[in-house]
Parts: sequence; C-alpha cells; structure tokens
Amino acid sequence: MINEHYRRMLEGRSVIRAISERATARRAEIGERNVFDFSLGNPSVPTTPGFTEAMLDLYEHEPAVKLHSYSPSIGLPEFREAVAHSLNRRFGMDYTANHIYPTSGATAALAHAFRAVTAPGSEIITFAPFFPEYKPYSEAAGLKLTVLPCNPDDFQIDFDALEQAMNANVQAVLINTPNNPSGVVYSAATLKRLGELLEAKQRYYGHSIFLISDEPYREITFDGIEQPYPSKFYANTLSCYSFSKSLSLPGERIGYVAVNPAADESDIFIPLFTQISRATGHNCPSSSIQRACARVIDQTADLAVYERNMDLLYTALHELGFEVVRPGGTFYIFPKALEDDAVAFCEKAMDYDLFMVPGDSFGMPGYVRLAYCLDTSKVEAAIPVLKRFVTEQYM
Ligand code: PLP
Repeated sequence: MINEHYRRMLEGRSVIRAISERATARRAEIGERNVFDFSLGNPSVPTTPGFTEAMLDLYEHEPAVKLHSYSPSIGLPEFREAVAHSLNRRFGMDYTANHIYPTSGATAALAHAFRAVTAPGSEIITFAPFFPEYKPYSEAAGLKLTVLPCNPDDFQIDFDALEQAMNANVQAVLINTPNNPSGVVYSAATLKRLGELLEAKQRYYGHSIFLISDEPYREITFDGIEQPYPSKFYANTLSCYSFSKSLSLPGERIGYVAVNPAADESDIFIPLFTQISRATGHNCPSSSIQRACARVIDQTADLAVYERNMDLLYTALHELGFEVVRPGGTFYIFPKALEDDAVAFCEKAMDYDLFMVPGDSFGMPGYVRLAYCLDTSKVEAAIPVLKRFVTEQYM
C-alpha cells in the first residue's frame, strides 16, 4: 500500500520548485540570458579554496579505508572540537565538543532539535514570514506549527502576538535569523526581549520551553551589522547551523546542532541525538566532509556579491515605489507586491521572464521573495526588465 500522507504531500509540492522549473523550461526556449530567475536559494559563489585544498589533501594523504569509514554516531571529534572552539571564540560561549552534534545540513539539525525537545501533539511557534519547509518538518515530528505575525515595518518579532499565543502546550519557539525570506537580522534588543519572555513563560508554566534557532545565514550580513548570537540571550537554546550557505556547500549536506551548555539537562542531548538519528535515518554525515570543514571552520566563501546584489535590488525596488524593508542579511529581499494578490503579481512578472515567489508560500500573502544569489551582471540586466514590467502593468 502507498502511504497516503506522502501521496497528499505530492499535491502540495513546493511552489518555489515549481516556479524554478518554469524558469528552467523558459531558459531552454529563449536562452539563459533572457531569463531572470529569482526563485531559488542556491549559493552562486564557489566554496573557499581552503575547503577544496582540504579535500584534495585528505584524498591524497589519508588511507582510503580510514577516510571513507563511518563517522562515530556522535560525529568526528575533530569536527565537534573545531565547531566548539570557533563558536566560543566568536560569541563568548563555553561549548565543549560534547555540546556539538554534526548533521546533514540545517534540515537534519532541525529534525533532531524538534524531536529532542517536543512531544508529538505539542505546539511549536514560529513567525511569518517563514521558510516553508518548517511545515513538513513540524508535521513529521507530530507537532502543531503555529505561525505568528511579525512587525511588518521591520520584520522583527511581534511580542504582543507572542505573549497572547503562549500556552501550556507550547514546547518550543523556532526562529530564523538572518531570515529567509525577509532578510531581517534579529537585533540584540529583540533577542533579549524574547529570552526574557521565554524565561517568564517557563516559570509560569513550570516546564522548559526551548528556543530552536535556525541559523544557516549567520555569516551573510550587510551594512557592517553582525548577527547577535541567539543562544547568548537564552540558556535553553539549540542552535541549528548549516555550511550550505556560508561555505557554499549545499550539496555536501553538512551542519550541526550546538546545545547551550547552560540548557536544562544539556548533557543528555548528544546521546539523545544519536537515538533520534537512528529513528530518522539521518545518521552520520559524511566523514570526509566533516574533516574538511573542521580545517576551514572560520572561513566563508566570498559573500560580498550578495550585498552588492541586495543594494542594487533594494535601490531599484525602492525607486519603483515598492514598500520594501532593506535586508540586514541572507540573499533574499521581500517587498510588498504591487497588488494585493501576490500570486497574480508573480504570474504577470513571468510574462516578462521575471521569476519570483509569492509570499503566500512563506505565510505572508501580498509579498514576494526575490532570491539574488546570482551574478551581479544578471541582477543589473534584470533591473530594466523589472522597470518595464512595473511601468506597463502598474503605472
Ligand atoms: N533553514 C532555512 C531558513 C533555509 O533557508 C534552508 C535552506 O535554504 C534550510 C533551513 C535548510 O538548509 P540545509 O541545506 O542546510 O539543509
């Protein structure tokens, strides 16, 4: 028998993928240079040379049997130590290797974090706009995902909405900063207030409430801003990270969960994660990739292109009369569409071979996401097309 749950999921396929497939089909028809595809969040810059050198060195000098052997179920010590030292140095934390668990990207980090601190049937809160995959991630863990509005002027947390939504069944709050799709970087003031609110709610309800902090864009920030480290503001925090964006390694599937040493029962988490891995099949990320990442732990790909692209697009959108918040990071911008129906807006844009994703997918109808992980020349070429689209359709 075919599982009906997954069969139903087929009907609700990712809108982002569907739009990207339309862009790909159009490329085949009219050529790459005539298509302006802002649909997918795939890094556009190569990984750092240091990572490639580390891989080559491992392949050349390590015995193949050792290099390709299973990683221990808690991960390779050199990777876990490198991550702990790096986070301690950068953010003043006091992690040891025993607080770090390697995972297959942020997806698996979240799968472990969700299962470690929630029971099926309980509630997890997040904020719109949000990464659409949070829905299937929560469903798979048996959780009710509650999506709260943000403050639309700056995309920071709407604390009145959070205060009202908290109840005894909420076991975790999920944040993503820098945020896909809005590009907001939660400020220290936001994180401090969030930490204080969750502390108060823990006392009131008499149980732990975990903050699950999804941080794959941690290093992609603009205008000289840095992302304050969420775990610094609240002890019961699980930081979920990925090297997909910072090191441009999305296909290598590598990331981690970092458990705040001051969290409740912090020592149980890594052993617990090994059991969650067994159950989810997300066990033992690649040994060679863990080892190469350990050697380049503080490096990033050359991320400057994202800020250049953001500047170009922000200026163009602003001049064209869009309501748009300047992103503090990521490689996304999230303006308000020029009509209430963002799906209709994106459909019309496709007639100009401009591919964007309606905010409906991110829990915020009326907005659109543009992913600008592209060559700057592509963004420059898209701007006159965007102007023609807006002038012809909305002026
Ligand atoms: N979380 C957010 C907010 C993302 O944007 C993504 C990927 O785009 C992920 C998680 C998943 O990342 P990974 O590729 O590391 O599994």
